[in-house]
Amino acid sequence: MQTRSASRILIGTVTTLGVAWGLTGARAQAPSVPAAVATHIAAARAAGGELWRAAIGQMCGPLEQTPMPAQPAPAPAAPNAAPPPPPPRDAWYRDPEKVFDNVYVLATKSGNGGVSAWAVTTAAGIILIDATYDYSVKEIVDDGLKKLGLNPADIKVIFITHNHRDHVGGAKYLQALYKPRVYMAPADWDIVRTQNATGAADGPPVPARDLDATDGQRYTLGDTTIAVYITPGHTPGTLSFLIPVKIKGVTHMAAFWGGTGIGRQTGAENLALHSASAMRLERLARAANADVLLSNHDGFSDYFKRIDAVKANPNAPNPFVVGIPGVSKMFQAVQECSEANIAALQR
Ligand SMILES: [Zn+2]
Repeated sequence: MQTRSASRILIGTVTTLGVAWGLTGARAQAPSVPAAVATHIAAARAAGGELWRAAIGQMCGPLEQTPMPAQPAPAPAAPNAAPPPPPPRDAWYRDPEKVFDNVYVLATKSGNGGVSAWAVTTAAGIILIDATYDYSVKEIVDDGLKKLGLNPADIKVIFITHNHRDHVGGAKYLQALYKPRVYMAPADWDIVRTQNATGAADGPPVPARDLDATDGQRYTLGDTTIAVYITPGHTPGTLSFLIPVKIKGVTHMAAFWGGTGIGRQTGAENLALHSASAMRLERLARAANADVLLSNHDGFSDYFKRIDAVKANPNAPNPFVVGIPGVSKMFQAVQECSEANIAALQR
């Protein structure tokens, strides 16, 4: 089934691949990186450069190892096993940070499993994006907001970027405690329900199904309106956003990519969706003059490095402001790395 869908999805990339094969004449010999893969990796680096080195490393990096690691098998379902225990607190706890005048990051430590929720404050309460893990939500989000001088009872709405445990796991806790509305894309609500109905071992705790996010939705709270887009690939209903952020009183538009990175194990069809979503969000971000790029994984977009740079030199230009071309570069790099992974599947 995967092969059939892969060939259908790959129609859009045939030209690119054909050029790459044509230039090199033949498939490169092992153990070097196949030419079609290398072409896309080079394009990702040309687009993303130093600015988005982390994202490129995450998505393209495994393809450059010699020999290229085998495609990881999907984790087997273990219906009756207990969920894996949470890692020790020292492995994930990190203090919350104010990022912009109206934006705060509630993040676990970077590295393996590192993830973040983002609070956008408005005149009428807090818009929360993601909830982190079930085991981290109390200390990272609930107590984190209090540490920042904010009131978690002011969370009026939570947008869950996608149904993976590191993003949705904490939503049930917040929903029970503070009664915010919870949005997720319908396709991801369906999968969360399915995961738990089948009793998958690592299925996240499920918030009660609430509101369906829609593509192109405008959500307004108080004086702030965010745009919501369904950008499939990482999951079928991954959400991304355009969010107005204030930096020293000046409003900028931030593109928030909810999909992070994916690799070969997700299959050519999802990679092709991921690639198309990146290009679509690049156009939307450019049309909205977005000059800031945010994501929910530090390992993808290096927000801790930027936060530290602001602290070290508060009067320098804010390094989160990468310019409209800088935002485009991220999406171009994501697109090229998605295509590199598709090419790697065709070896
Ligand atoms: Zn995920």
